[in-house]
Amino acid sequence: MSEADCLFCKIADREIPSTVVYESESVLGFNDIRPQAPVHILFMPKRHISGIHEVTARNVGEAGALLLAANEVAREKGLSEAGYRLVVNCKADGGQTVDHLHLHLLGGRRMTWPPG
Ligand code: 5GP
Ligand code: ZN
Repeated sequence: MSEADCLFCKIADREIPSTVVYESESVLGFNDIRPQAPVHILFMPKRHISGIHEVTARNVGEAGALLLAANEVAREKGLSEAGYRLVVNCKADGGQTVDHLHLHLLGGRRMTWPPG
């Protein structure tokens, strides 16, 4: 199910090209167009959910599948030993710029804390 004018729905529908690195029935993982680390992959449900604030008992399975996908790809990319960061930005104060739930996998360099 795709939402009109949603950039990431268009990526899920392959209307807009992306470099896909993971795909399952419900999840797509693709390289971020402006990588902030040597590995920067976005994992999203193929079905439109506007953000983490919209996760409910009904769709938590799709949200949880993002974690499984990110951990699997992190292992494949050799990040498991050194570690990595998973980020979900929520709405304006959280820094969300695309209103379709996605999980960032960042790795391959040492992260700092607190984030900016
Ligand atoms: P947010 O700020 O919403 O957490 O993350 C949105 C992310 O999507 C940003 O890191 C941005 O670089 C990425 N992004 C925006 N437009 C595109 C696009 O058209 N293709 C890809 N692959 N990534 C995008
Ligand atoms: Zn969408």
